[in-house]
Amino acid sequence: MIIVMKTNATQEDIDQMIKNVQSLGLKPNVIRGTERTVIAAVGEERVAGIGSLESGPGVDEVLPIVAPYKLASRELSPKDTVVSAGSLTVGNGLIGVIAGPCSVESEEQIVSSARAVKAAGATALRGGAFKPRTSPYSFQGLKEEGLRLLAKAREETGLAVVTEVVSPDDVPLVAEYAEVLQIGARNMQNYRLLEAVGGCGRAVLLKRGPSATIDEWLLAAEYILDAGNPDVMLCERGVRTFETHTRFTLPLATVPYVQQRTHLPVVVDPSHGTGHTSLVPAMSRAAVAAGADGLIVEVHPNPDKAMSDGYQSLTFEQFAQMMPDCRRTAESLDRRLGC
Ligand code: PEP
Ligand code: MN
Repeated sequence: MIIVMKTNATQEDIDQMIKNVQSLGLKPNVIRGTERTVIAAVGEERVAGIGSLESGPGVDEVLPIVAPYKLASRELSPKDTVVSAGSLTVGNGLIGVIAGPCSVESEEQIVSSARAVKAAGATALRGGAFKPRTSPYSFQGLKEEGLRLLAKAREETGLAVVTEVVSPDDVPLVAEYAEVLQIGARNMQNYRLLEAVGGCGRAVLLKRGPSATIDEWLLAAEYILDAGNPDVMLCERGVRTFETHTRFTLPLATVPYVQQRTHLPVVVDPSHGTGHTSLVPAMSRAAVAAGADGLIVEVHPNPDKAMSDGYQSLTFEQFAQMMPDCRRTAESLDRRLGC
């Protein structure tokens, strides 16, 4: 629930309420606004004595948070969250563009990709070093060597690095190298992993599971927020339906719907969302038109030779061609895209 303090509540009142909340077994999250302080009390609410909070010192009102997720809800934080991580800023009218190959394959591949996507206006570099592959026989990524190559590409270009982490044990290592830790679609409900990135001190890009409902996705974000990490970006990357012509089905209504319910920025992945290079530019524009706060796009120097997801990757030229259209779409909505 939300405890709204009076405008003249003192620090002592706030400290007292924090104690009252803790004594009910709930976790207090203090949000200081310009006019008043709000305390979010989260946890199992079916406890006796919640009514007593209303009579606490300096309390104006106590409101329930109706959504199943609490810290992620608009009810708690009406203002958009802006996530900044190195060169990447996402939210509140700034549309971040994360681009690069599906997997890091070599120094030449990742550094040339970083240079090309930066020249076209991308604000962060993507590239998987730890790859979650459907088949155990597929390329699993260069692991730590891949992280080193990503760091090299950042050194050359200044682009923030976005890369996936697949296991809680690897979180400290990946956090040493990357500005943003990606939780892949397959791991959206790996709760130990969510808790681990919640304590890693880096921003997180949380992909939607291909069969996850929006509530399940936002509750997954809640795990990260509850573990103390406020820098969470959601990523719609397509869901599984009866349709087989596209790799997944990319539901863009998710963007405005989720933005109504959460203050967290929403990034769209048109590469995994369609699974076809030829569909990526149109769906990138559409995502921007729908109000997305960011794009994550697969770009490869030679998609035919890519070790993963080449069939949905853009060449450098294709990426450079689509960016001005995305930028114009953003500007028509008084938003800014890329750099
Ligand atoms: C990826 O970004 O390359 C990836 C594996 O994405 P997803 O988890 O959405 O399938
Ligand atoms: Mn991929």
